[in-house]
Amino acid sequence: MTSENAVPESAASEAAEDVAVTRVATGATAEDHAAIAAGLVDESERVVVLTGAGISTDSRIPDFRGPQGIWTKNPGAEKAATLQNYVAEPDLRRQAWRIRLDSPMWAAEPNPGHRALLRLERRNKLHTLVTQNVDGLHHAAGSDPARIVEVHGTAREVACLHCDYRDPMQVALDRVRQGEEDPDCPDCGGILKSATISFGQNLVPDDIQRANDAALACDLLLAVGSTLGVFPVARVVPLAKQTGASIVILNGEATEMDHLADVVVRGSISKLLPIIVG
Ligand SMILES: [Zn+2]
Repeated sequence: MTSENAVPESAASEAAEDVAVTRVATGATAEDHAAIAAGLVDESERVVVLTGAGISTDSRIPDFRGPQGIWTKNPGAEKAATLQNYVAEPDLRRQAWRIRLDSPMWAAEPNPGHRALLRLERRNKLHTLVTQNVDGLHHAAGSDPARIVEVHGTAREVACLHCDYRDPMQVALDRVRQGEEDPDCPDCGGILKSATISFGQNLVPDDIQRANDAALACDLLLAVGSTLGVFPVARVVPLAKQTGASIVILNGEATEMDHLADVVVRGSISKLLPIIVG
């Protein structure tokens, strides 16, 4: 995609566009913007990356509210995504387990966007990789687990709502395949759920703290595939900005924080992120 067909939708994103455009010739392509961002990465030593759903689109992870979205096709799944409903309604839980069984997530593989972030690690520039995604594809791509913060949890594990029991999701799904419609916790008999943060469920304070601390420590924040409208995680962008870090935003469309960016790159993440990370 070139900058010609990237239409700014708000004054905020126009302002961000101006910042980038002042540094390249008129008619610059998305690749030109990516090259400017690459220059900022070259100058940086502590890069914090925030990723959202957009980085997994090319791995065919379906979104929630789009035309093929999980919730569009199955409103019961949206209801089950609220903790109180999940706890109160056994029927919703049984349905949730059937949906988990068929999730396209289990067959999904990392794409060039996920793999590009390994390059930052090899260059010793990656400070922390904060992700809003629950698909586990950064782990699958080989990113250092110690640097990953999954602020919305992971669908690759199952957790008990009453005790500390956790296990790989596939262990619970095997029980479903063997006929248990709503497998309970082997330790305490409590309700099991994917280890994601549902609506109505608290975020893990340590994870948010790690994300914020990383934002305050970085010299470049690279936001990839997030509309930056989900808080508190999106707050890492203004936090990093306040400390004087450079801000690079790569996304398919305008984001809530384009006005804070030094460079906005708009287009295919799997094509452009490899350019940005060098
Ligand atoms: Zn338990």
